[in-house]
Amino acid sequence: MATRTANRTPMAWQASLAEMKAHGTRLAQCCTAPGCGHWNPLNVDAMIAKHGGAWAAWGRRPACVSCGKLGHYMASPGPSTPFRPLLPGPAAEAARKIFLKSFGFTRRDVARIRAHAERVAEGERATGLQDLDVPYRVQAIPPGEETRSSGEYLGEWAGQALLFWRLTEPEVRVWKARPRAVKRV
Ligand SMILES: [Zn+2]
Repeated sequence: MATRTANRTPMAWQASLAEMKAHGTRLAQCCTAPGCGHWNPLNVDAMIAKHGGAWAAWGRRPACVSCGKLGHYMASPGPSTPFRPLLPGPAAEAARKIFLKSFGFTRRDVARIRAHAERVAEGERATGLQDLDVPYRVQAIPPGEETRSSGEYLGEWAGQALLFWRLTEPEVRVWKARPRAVKRV
């Protein structure tokens, strides 16, 4: 999955803590270490009290509070809007690769997700993929509409935002019983 050529400088809602507060940004610390994936939601007011309003999370690699490996910060511009990494270009690419790897998508999954995104790019109202080889639902959302979705940000393909949801327990039962016509790769 291609990723956006990430910004070298943060947007206003991604910048200092004071700007984050003004924009209502949601902030979290995340870990992409294999087997960890710790997600630590942060309170912007508490961060300002601790670091001051001029402090910025952009480009920082804080140690994971769970495993101690280097993680990074993620931010979202508002409620029910997917989080994005607060990292400049190459670092964001590297973090994104580790992040994608953590899902365990098969090559068949990646091919299906790409084909799905291309159909959505052509204007088709395709429903999300719920029978991938891993227990996640993935849906391509046209640009701008992702802000109205509950999904988390996975990446981009064919100009569409790719969002993911972990399957719920009842969905996992359906997923386990799904027909598997194609062998795993
Ligand atoms: Zn960790």
